[in-house]
Amino acid sequence: MDSISHATLSKIASDFGTPVYVYDCNKITSQYQRLTNAFNGGDVRFFYACKALTNVNILRHIRSLGAGVDCSSINEVKLAVVAGFLPSEILYTSNGIDFAEIEEAQSMGVHINIDSLSNLEKFGKKFGHSYPVGIRLRPNIMAGGNLKISTGHEKSKFGISVNQLDKILALVDRYDLFVQALHIHTGSDIRDVDVFLKGIEILFDQIPFFKELEIIDLGGGMKVPYKKDDEETDIPLLGMKVLEAFAEHPNPNGKPLQIWFEPGKFLVSECGYFITQVNVMKQTGAANFASVNSGFNHLIRPMFYDSYHRIENISNPGGDSQSYAVVGNICETDTFAWNRTLQEVREGDLLVFYNAGAYGFEMSSNFNSRLKPAEVMLKDGEVTLIRNREDFDDLLRHQVL
Ligand SMILES: *Cc1c(COP(=O)(O)O)cnc(C)c1O
Repeated sequence: MDSISHATLSKIASDFGTPVYVYDCNKITSQYQRLTNAFNGGDVRFFYACKALTNVNILRHIRSLGAGVDCSSINEVKLAVVAGFLPSEILYTSNGIDFAEIEEAQSMGVHINIDSLSNLEKFGKKFGHSYPVGIRLRPNIMAGGNLKISTGHEKSKFGISVNQLDKILALVDRYDLFVQALHIHTGSDIRDVDVFLKGIEILFDQIPFFKELEIIDLGGGMKVPYKKDDEETDIPLLGMKVLEAFAEHPNPNGKPLQIWFEPGKFLVSECGYFITQVNVMKQTGAANFASVNSGFNHLIRPMFYDSYHRIENISNPGGDSQSYAVVGNICETDTFAWNRTLQEVREGDLLVFYNAGAYGFEMSSNFNSRLKPAEVMLKDGEVTLIRNREDFDDLLRHQVL
């Protein structure tokens, strides 16, 4: 893992205060290059699933690499426009959204994936063949790190079940829909390449029914390492196997199919560092608690879906290793890590959380009336503040006094 040095992180903490999110653009670049190298030779496009991290400065950097952007709300579409993405580079994959947002996306000229028969029908009535559409399918397979981050299984709310193909085709027929893309996104933290291939196999069965198809969108979900020596998706193998599968299944309609991916976590997880400071040490019969100046209001992933974040005490690299419970300062059970071995922790030390780029700041809240942290970007050795730390006025901004 090529990481930002402790010295740089300490300097950022003293210059900008804590807690603070730090993003390393060069890491995003190298992750993007790993993807493009793996799919070299194929007709493949990558749309960054920006719900992982939407700071406009990060979006601009990702656009500069040549990627498009995949959005989960109309506001993300608008943020992408602010960041300079052209409509042709923006994809809006809907999840149970109001049809008005689909109309707005259409008026902006972006790509649209629709995930319900209901919205597909409204789309057909309004636009007929005049505007291309993607259909988000649910392949009914189990994929991803755990149930909470699995989206393609039978009980999932996402997409239109492949078992309802006849209903989809009836709508295509009735409204002369221009189905340009078929989409699946089956989950997050998918380590096994075979799981991706299983989804693709199911898609191959659907392709012959869509005469104007041009794009197969395989979603995101590639797994990154969280621990030292942790397993991740084998990206070169994924590239090879996917291109192989498509070569073996030429589009029966003759049109070559472009392959799209929507990586979120893969591009930005490892670029992120969350720096906190220890407020209080508390020894009890159960654990030695290190309570930091943050909580699940800033980084909810451990409490929300048991995610693991590597933590380092960058203030005491020579200290003895001991076991700690690292907790937040929120009035609610708020455990970042239990039984975690760290270099001796003292009040005032800086604890850094790794893999904090994806779904970190983005899922933060003002719970306990705490303020959201600042965000800082590192690019080619330059450090830039890209979001101000909130202040007390922000808590009152929308309250009617
Ligand atoms: C969240 C999401 C992604 C990205 O998932 P990652 O696990 O972060 O790669 C891609 N596509 C869609 C439709 C999503 O909702």
